[in-house]
Amino acid sequence: MANNDTLVLAGKRAVVTGAGRGIGRSIALALAAAGADVGVTARSANELEQLVAEIQSQGRRSLSASCDVTDPQQVQHMAAAMLEGLRGIDILINNAGNAGSNKFLNHPDELWHRMLAVNLTSVYYVCKAFLPAMTEQRHGRIITIASIASRVGGRYIAAYTASKHGVLGLTRALAAEMIPYNITVNAICPGYVDTPMTNNSVSNIVARTGMSEAQARETLAKTSPQGRLIEPEEVATIAVFLAQDSSKGITGQAINVDGGGVMS
Ligand code: NDP
Repeated sequence: MANNDTLVLAGKRAVVTGAGRGIGRSIALALAAAGADVGVTARSANELEQLVAEIQSQGRRSLSASCDVTDPQQVQHMAAAMLEGLRGIDILINNAGNAGSNKFLNHPDELWHRMLAVNLTSVYYVCKAFLPAMTEQRHGRIITIASIASRVGGRYIAAYTASKHGVLGLTRALAAEMIPYNITVNAICPGYVDTPMTNNSVSNIVARTGMSEAQARETLAKTSPQGRLIEPEEVATIAVFLAQDSSKGITGQAINVDGGGVMS
């Protein structure tokens, strides 16, 4: 193992939302491997406890706080616990999110509101809760896991697409406003990633079309020119890159991790 002082995130304090599984879990472990102490949050406490133990076994400080990021009061409590436990914050990863699909012509209003709450308004609440600590110290990194659906429209995912386009707009506006505070704000836009969320999408395709599970996975994999699902660790690599001090010139940007499907 590398000497701690040579690690690119040595001494940094990070918080990852939606860290219990999937992309968030990979990012939390990658930040810790790069030297950061990591606070992790989601609703399911059992997944977080296991992750905290793994991060601590890497020699980093870690703590968890259960929180529904769509509830502003829970977000305030979670942020207070993290700021106290980590003694501040340098890196915020807005990863918690969810996907849902429906044809637009019979689109349930509930799905619309749920997608905007969990993918967009939650990021607003979480940024608001942590930004005072970052602006006071005049340093910070905010990295939001957006989506290729932040870049292009797709059938049957109107609400998810609107929420993910919105979160990219929020990223850019915040990036502009936070320049005087040396806080960078960026987004990562993955295509389909091999996570429990994508397993749910596979199950939905199977239920709606009668395809086999393998055919459904292949259908999603083929949306990428590389013909494969992205691994969560590939998203985590970009998060660690953006979190480093040496990435200070990159702000208001969105990096696609989708095997070349969208080239803008
Ligand atoms: P998973 O469903 O595998 O994991 C989602 C995580 O977010 C879980 O830890 C979940 O924990 C947490 N979470 C969900 N809702 C809430 C909530 N209301 N409050 C707090 N935590 C919540 O998702 P992925 O890892 O696949 O996705 C992570 C992010 O990446 C999402 O923003 C997603 O939109 C985005 N993304 C995913 C892609 C993919 O193909 N998988 C592609 C592009 C973007 P719990 O349920 O315990 O709260």
